[in-house]
Amino acid sequence: RTGSDAPAGEASRGRRLAESAARVIPGGVNSATRYIGEPYAFVSADGAYVTDADGRRYLDYHAAFGAMVLGHNAPVVNDAVRAAVDGPGLIGLGVSELEVELARRVVEVIPSAESAISTMSGTEATFQAVRLARAVTGRPYIVKFQGGFHGSHDAVARNVISAPERAYGRDPLSKGILDPALDATLIAEFNDLASVRTLLDRHPGQVAAVIMEPIPHNVGALVPTQEFVEGLRALTAETGTVLIFDEVITGFRHALGGYQEVCGVTPDLTTFGKGMANGVPIGGLAGRRDLMEHFNHTGGDVLLAGTFNGSPISSAAAIATIDHLRANPDFYERTHALGQRMRDGLSAIVADLGIDATAAGFGGVFALYFAKGPIRGYRDLMRNDNSAYVAFHRRMTEAGYLMLPMALKRNHISGAHTAEEIDATLSAAADVLAGMRK
Ligand code: PLP
Repeated sequence: RTGSDAPAGEASRGRRLAESAARVIPGGVNSATRYIGEPYAFVSADGAYVTDADGRRYLDYHAAFGAMVLGHNAPVVNDAVRAAVDGPGLIGLGVSELEVELARRVVEVIPSAESAISTMSGTEATFQAVRLARAVTGRPYIVKFQGGFHGSHDAVARNVISAPERAYGRDPLSKGILDPALDATLIAEFNDLASVRTLLDRHPGQVAAVIMEPIPHNVGALVPTQEFVEGLRALTAETGTVLIFDEVITGFRHALGGYQEVCGVTPDLTTFGKGMANGVPIGGLAGRRDLMEHFNHTGGDVLLAGTFNGSPISSAAAIATIDHLRANPDFYERTHALGQRMRDGLSAIVADLGIDATAAGFGGVFALYFAKGPIRGYRDLMRNDNSAYVAFHRRMTEAGYLMLPMALKRNHISGAHTAEEIDATLSAAADVLAGMRK
């Protein structure tokens, strides 16, 4: 049950917290997309639910941008973190048992992983992947897809959700990125192999890597055709280009071995983050040993450095998450079935109401686009009615269901959600969508 315990008319504690945050933190948040307006602040989380600063409980599909795979505050992960804190001491010097155990598991479960490193965030993982690809190929350019997000560093911080007039053009996420860095990143269309081929032909022998979210969840869920991923693998192999799967969202969430296990296509490098440690800060990079050996401090030529890389706390949390998923393979069956139930339910509702909307997704991830399908690539997303999504989101939040606030983003079903909760969400969505049509 969701609902507010805050006495009516009392000044919102969340708003007061947001106001004091804005006095000491620029904009009041430590990451731009954290700001969601009301509810401003959250004070606790448990399983599939979060509670805001005014005591209102929400069924949570935001999942901290997908960092929660098992659900909030999963006891197996919390116990492992506590044991790491209370255990041999947080050394960060030499090699720790926990970081070795984590790398061993990554190599065991990820099809393309022969060797693995840990970082503290997904941004650092994709930064290292791009630098490594440039180092091993000696080439300057990389290709990313319009709509793909790979973190905030200069090589990838462009062309995510772009206004139509800036899509495929030069759309930096930030000022302060040097022009040569922006120009060294080429933009292709997802699910369109010819767009990648054109860029590789235009810059023969000059493209170091193609980096992709196997399912670009940063614009909801563009599911790749098998032909596209296989074609990309063949094209990159043929041209000596490094293929990087950014599995920061898809990794451990859609299958233990990531989306590469699902599609059977093996990238050269894979990046991880978010759900890997169920909410404890982490990132990771794994891949072909001959590439990864360039990080070897003896004889390698690519710098790998980070005081907190391989952190015992993060490693312990990731080991616990992976071991839990390995011991409970029905996690994937369950979350995939719940995701399908949500997508089927949403599809039926919008069909009944005659609304031009499309339920998309994969596994436990779902998105609702306010555009007629099929939605295959970013070009199709430019038809999305963003204001309809924003209205849908606002009303769902008021009804007690928390989703990502930005149009074109995805939502997450964790191991803690139940079929009853999916059905309650569908019933609320039916009311909200019917109300929007009026
Ligand atoms: N890659 C993808 C696919 C992401 O969605 C994100 C974060 O949203 C990142 C990389 C960056 O990860 P982090 O926020 O941990 O730096």
